[in-house]
Amino acid sequence: MQTLSEHYRDLPGLDKSWRVVKVDLELDPAEVRIYLESSGAAVSCSECGNECPLKDHAPERTWRHLDTMQFTTTIHARVPRTKCENCGVKTCHVPWAEPHGRYTLLFEAFAVQVLQAAATVEQARILLRLTWESVQRIMNRAVERGIQRREIETVRHVGMDEKSFGRGHDYVSVMTDIDGSRVLDVVPGHDGEAADLLWNTLTDDQKGTVEAVAMDMWPAFETSATKNVPQAEIVHDRFHISKHLGEAVDKIRRQENNALVKDGDETLKGTKQLWLYNAENMSDEQWTQFEFLKDMELKTATGWAIRENFRWFWEYKYAGNARKFFALWYDWACESELQPIIKVANMLRKRLANILTWFRHRISNGPAEGFNSRIQSLKSAARGFRIFENYRTRILFFCGKLDLKPSIISH
Ligand SMILES: [Zn+2]
Repeated sequence: MQTLSEHYRDLPGLDKSWRVVKVDLELDPAEVRIYLESSGAAVSCSECGNECPLKDHAPERTWRHLDTMQFTTTIHARVPRTKCENCGVKTCHVPWAEPHGRYTLLFEAFAVQVLQAAATVEQARILLRLTWESVQRIMNRAVERGIQRREIETVRHVGMDEKSFGRGHDYVSVMTDIDGSRVLDVVPGHDGEAADLLWNTLTDDQKGTVEAVAMDMWPAFETSATKNVPQAEIVHDRFHISKHLGEAVDKIRRQENNALVKDGDETLKGTKQLWLYNAENMSDEQWTQFEFLKDMELKTATGWAIRENFRWFWEYKYAGNARKFFALWYDWACESELQPIIKVANMLRKRLANILTWFRHRISNGPAEGFNSRIQSLKSAARGFRIFENYRTRILFFCGKLDLKPSIISH
């Protein structure tokens, strides 16, 4: 066993105050156990850093380390406790792990890397042979670490959005740094209070740098932005407007389909997705079916054409021309007599000033940043998401662009 002991003397972070006393090898289950002992040199208080007399050693603890040739490898040690004049009895820090961590820094760094590389958290969990709870704890710590290290100098363009969460009708609100393509924070709820909470995660200086906020036409978010970043312009974004129009078309399709089916006409049956796709994303087969449908005398087809036409609005270079386009589009929408479309058109007209701000800032909570699909996929991995905190952790872990790995102390 001499060689194994020697091998582990180079354990990262192990300084002169620790030595390897024993390495046990078990074959069933395959496990390497490394026993460390503190050399009894001077100890410092984990609270204030003063050198203090040693009180005793805490009961043995175990940390999981990187595997050795597929052998689960654990470190076992009794950690010294100091009796500090100022702080009382404190357990010392160990160089190979974070306080209260159950894994070595190297293992945690590796786990973070596996989680980032794996397609799903579940796949990473299996590769790492960890329980859900352990994975969650590693991710919680990684996000905490990342947020402490994060530097936000300026946030010129902020995105405020809500996401449904859990099985019921729970929501979370998400704040993003649009230029940095990163999620800044996540809070429960989607009311004004939630929005205020998000703004309060920024300092006054940071808030002062905000030029524009992209959001849905949601009064609570609007009021909160006006209050917290009065200098910033509000941009009711393209992504949400397109969503409202898409929902209107879907509502028309449902009503029309019900009416047609009553007369034994199944033209619209099973066509839901076709009306929601962008034409450029359709397969040839879908396009053939759709081309036929969209030219039929259908209310749904009219609604679809009105929705589709609105995409030109965003293509203008100047707000003045977009305003003119809107007036024409609005008349067409109203003449259609399609109530769901008229409802959205009226909402847009009422908010037009804060929609035209697009031409100054061109920001959106849109799919460009890839958050929406990523956050969606995190939600669909439903397990362990009963607790809001877990969901927040996962969003920040994967979409926060945080520096997540523990720093390895080298000696
Ligand atoms: Zn102390």
